[in-house]
Parts: sequence; structure tokens; C-alpha cells
Amino acid sequence: MRCQLCLNFSWQPICKECLDRLFVPTPKKRVLQDGLNVYSCYAYKDIKELLHTKHTLIGSKVFSILTRHALLPLTQNFKCKDIFSIPIDDHTREGYSHSAIIAYELRTVFTPLYGALRAKNRVRYSGQKRDFRMKQKRDFRLTCKEGISVVLVDDIVTSGSTLLEANATCKKGGVDVAFALCLADASG
Ligand SMILES: [Zn+2]
Repeated sequence: MRCQLCLNFSWQPICKECLDRLFVPTPKKRVLQDGLNVYSCYAYKDIKELLHTKHTLIGSKVFSILTRHALLPLTQNFKCKDIFSIPIDDHTREGYSHSAIIAYELRTVFTPLYGALRAKNRVRYSGQKRDFRMKQKRDFRLTCKEGISVVLVDDIVTSGSTLLEANATCKKGGVDVAFALCLADASG
């Protein structure tokens, strides 16, 4: 196939040269109001176009490629035994779940617990105003055993309200959240 960006021959929809040239990670740590550390590796504005790409060939592969390129190397610093990952609300709306793909690509570092944290409130968030999103509770249901340590995984962190709610749900369920990992940070 061809790289969808430079059109050179490539085994992947985005070639290594384009990744290295256009998607240099910009790691960031954000601390939410409850003290949860959120690590991300891109500013949302820098990868927005790629995530919303119309190139159907790329599709969910973008999340795999960027996770392997940027987030996986970042997690090597955190590599420790017996930490699981929980992809947030990995419900498949469009045939695949972004957070589940990211958790899958990080599986050598954290064992994914798919479907462990699903929202009972199925409100569509995209295109909604910030205060609408802030007021909407996701009403998460946690279905994993107590006493484990996890990292929360999501594609994009915006206000942080989803992560705050997810963290609170985990705490209530006796699950320790070490930190959160997101591909992109949409704040500022
Ligand atoms: Zn290319």
C-alpha cells in the first residue's frame, strides 16, 4: 500500500518517515483536581486532522500507529509488574473502540481489562459544548475484582471530567488507579 500522507510505498498507512517527521511526541503531565496524574503524548490540535481523517484505509489504525509510536515508549518509564489497564468505556460504537485499541497496543506493559468500566449513560459527547459535557455523568459500572492497581486509558482528555468520574468509580470499587494515559490532551 501507500503512505496516506506522502504517498510513498509503505507497509503501513502512515510511513515511518512521516511519523518521525510529523508526529514527534510532546509528552505532557496534567494533574486533575482529585490528584490523578494524566500523561499524554500529543496536543490534540497536532493530531486532530489525522484522527478525523477521511482516508478510510487509516481508520482505527491511526490509534494503533500513534500509540506504538508515542505512548508505548513513554510507558517504559512506568513499567512495573501487576498493573492492569482499563480502557475507559470501550464500547464499540463505530465497529471499534479507540480506548480498547490503545490498551491493546500497551499490552506488553499493562494487561488490559476490556469491558471493565462501561458507561451506563450512552450520551454522544462529540460536538457538544463543554458545560454540557461537564454536567453529564457517565454513570460508570465497574466489573473487575477489588484490590488491583490499574491505569486508566483513553484516547483524548479534554476537561478531565470523564477521568475524574472513572477514578471515583474505581476508588469506590476498591480499585487503585495509579495514573491515566491518554493519546492526546485537548486542553490549552
Ligand atoms: Zn509517508
